[in-house]
Amino acid sequence: MKQLASGIYQLTIQRFVNLYFVEAGDPGEWVLIDTGLPGSADTIIAAANELFYPNTHPQAILLTHGHLDHAGSAQALADHWKVPIIAHPLEMPFLTGKAVYPPADPTVGGSLAFASRFFPPQSFSLQDYVQELPDDATPPFMPGWEWRHVPGHAPGQVAFFRTEDRTLIGADAFATAHHDSVPATMLQLPRLSRCGTPFTFDWEQARASVQELATLRPKAIGCGHGPVLQDPNLPDQFAEFAANFPMPTHGRYVDSPARTDANGVEYLPPAPEDTLPRRALLLTVGLVAAAGGLVWAGRRSSQSDKASPAPINKWVKSNGAKASPKTTRPTTTVGPEISRPTTTTPTGPINEVHPEATRLPIDPQYLPRIPTDPKGE
Ligand SMILES: [Zn+2]
Ligand SMILES: [Zn+2]
Repeated sequence: MKQLASGIYQLTIQRFVNLYFVEAGDPGEWVLIDTGLPGSADTIIAAANELFYPNTHPQAILLTHGHLDHAGSAQALADHWKVPIIAHPLEMPFLTGKAVYPPADPTVGGSLAFASRFFPPQSFSLQDYVQELPDDATPPFMPGWEWRHVPGHAPGQVAFFRTEDRTLIGADAFATAHHDSVPATMLQLPRLSRCGTPFTFDWEQARASVQELATLRPKAIGCGHGPVLQDPNLPDQFAEFAANFPMPTHGRYVDSPARTDANGVEYLPPAPEDTLPRRALLLTVGLVAAAGGLVWAGRRSSQSDKASPAPINKWVKSNGAKASPKTTRPTTTVGPEISRPTTTTPTGPINEVHPEATRLPIDPQYLPRIPTDPKGE
């Protein structure tokens, strides 16, 4: 557990996603911001009991947005603590089972985008607990804080900002680790970065959201992914990052965003062709063919161990010199000792070699030297 600022603690779940314990209100009162992946409830409850006191519970669970890695344990925690779950109104369709988020874009690039092919469409049914954030920018149970609507990555994504010490909980509006790379995120290497690239459905909104947050000039930043950042130069660094926000160069939602409303997804741009599955299939076929060729070659090699080794050019020259267009093809089977012409020297009559030479796959440069039978036999 890391401390982001006074009374704010960051817990990282499975080295991947962060949630925050925030002391607010009267002494002993606190709220939980985000809930990690599904299956994280026991870890979060144990951490809260250790951080505050046994059998503690928050005043409420506030969600920055409803993605699987942030709302994954909300139901289990609300069941356990019997507290409300609070989120932005535009997240309600996705938190109450009415809609699923715009599909991830695996063509936008990066290892997270690659992995997104295997993430299922998601939606939660939290209607027994979920409540809407009030529209006055004041999050419940968090005096001294304000929330900011930062869409682009999720329709109703919100960030939380404490004005007193300019502390920002930035959600997935951006990240504090290189979030396009799963290994870099897991290593928690600090870096201001765009966040959740395959899941961001409106890049203009995403950039505008970051630029709005930069005007707050935060002195401490904790996001949904990446380590805590505290640096005297952080306001300037964040402003520079926002001014030069790294828009992706290609992807489904880069030129044309998805549109959402209070009922869910209203419009989706067409999906570009995802060529990876086809390329993976071709690679697999190639590998299987190569493996088959190696097995075949190995068997042939073991069969020809008794034959006298000779380089292929010697073999071809020898046969080219002796070959005659009138050579009669034998009807008998060629013995195994000459069945691998690329590595052996024929020991029998030349007419016992030619049928194998024309039948086996040898280097094409040698084929013109192989005499053909003018009678077409
Ligand atoms: Zn997200
Ligand atoms: Zn996330």
